[in-house]
Amino acid sequence: MRIGIIGAGQLGQMLGFAAEELDIECRFLDPSDSPPASQAGQVMQRAFDDADALAALARDCDVITYEFENVPVDSLLPLCGQVPVYPPPDALRHAQDRLVEKRLFDTLGIPLPAYRQVDSEQDLLSAADEIGLPLVLKTRRFGYDGKGQLVIRGRDDVVRAWESLGDAPLIAEAWVDFDYEVSAIGARNPAGDTVMYPLTRNEHADGILRESRAPAIEASLEDIAEGYMAAMLSHLDYVGVLALELFVCGDRLLANEFAPRVHNSGHWTIEGAETSQFSNHIRAVAGRHLGSTDCPGHAGMENLIGSIPDAIRELPAADYHLHDYGKSPRPGRKLGHVTVVAASATERDRQLNVIAMALGEM
Ligand code: AMP
Repeated sequence: MRIGIIGAGQLGQMLGFAAEELDIECRFLDPSDSPPASQAGQVMQRAFDDADALAALARDCDVITYEFENVPVDSLLPLCGQVPVYPPPDALRHAQDRLVEKRLFDTLGIPLPAYRQVDSEQDLLSAADEIGLPLVLKTRRFGYDGKGQLVIRGRDDVVRAWESLGDAPLIAEAWVDFDYEVSAIGARNPAGDTVMYPLTRNEHADGILRESRAPAIEASLEDIAEGYMAAMLSHLDYVGVLALELFVCGDRLLANEFAPRVHNSGHWTIEGAETSQFSNHIRAVAGRHLGSTDCPGHAGMENLIGSIPDAIRELPAADYHLHDYGKSPRPGRKLGHVTVVAASATERDRQLNVIAMALGEM
């Protein structure tokens, strides 16, 4: 079995390592020079929308998947006649446009913040009247890690926000004063078997994920999230791993967005769960049985952004699992992560503090 993966970043690298353990070969397509996944398989250095390169990848592989959300859906569709493409391009289409995505949540009865389509300054003023302030203005497409977003706190901000983002299709959504953020990560195979990991609690800074902890919280929220995940996976006839980001507001969960791929907030599953999200994604797209998502302990993950200090490399490897993606340092770039797994949440939190100190954050 050979899997073709579009994108060869760190997610591709970790998918490739998981595939090796299952005796599955991966081939990648990515325009960058020496991307992280080149440690895990052959990389075709071509653009994501290069039709010839994609057709060649599909010819050489038994199934195609992707680790990157901005693959043009139109580039994937011609491959579907050749090989299975998982997750289904229709799931990708929903995830690429925040308006289409929010309508899907509505259709499935998954609660979400109030939102409005914004195509003009007048739409934005009406949204401010109807939803109230503050609100968040977001580009519908190509936003990630908080990019393409502005918070509008007063009516004076409306003109500035419109001038800054108004040349792209937008949505306005209610500002949510959430308690904290969680992600639900689930997987489904072509036979329709599904699994879900315990909810992961996430902390962001400057729109970028910094820290994840799992299991996150009480059983009642797990049950609600499991229902939402099941509805999404079945409605999209989904195959692979899906991550659903949610705001926790008291005893309610509000959907923020979903990613049709393995997710940064699930990196802890490599050491913290019986089967990692990467292994379950590979198993799912390869049509195999999914692995157990049981977690023997309390896991924590800290992203390494911009640099990997020596103090991080010097932490005892038996307790602090360092993943260095082999990328060159650049401010704001995700270069690696460290995972800890402890017998108690208190011990896990202590270890996360040790990492924060090594990062100079305390
Ligand atoms: P997104 O790109 O939509 O995931 O947004 C990035 C981060 O911005 C989220 O993880 C939240 O921390 C914050 N954020 C996004 N939308 C909202 C909202 N409607 N209310 C409050 N915070 C938000």
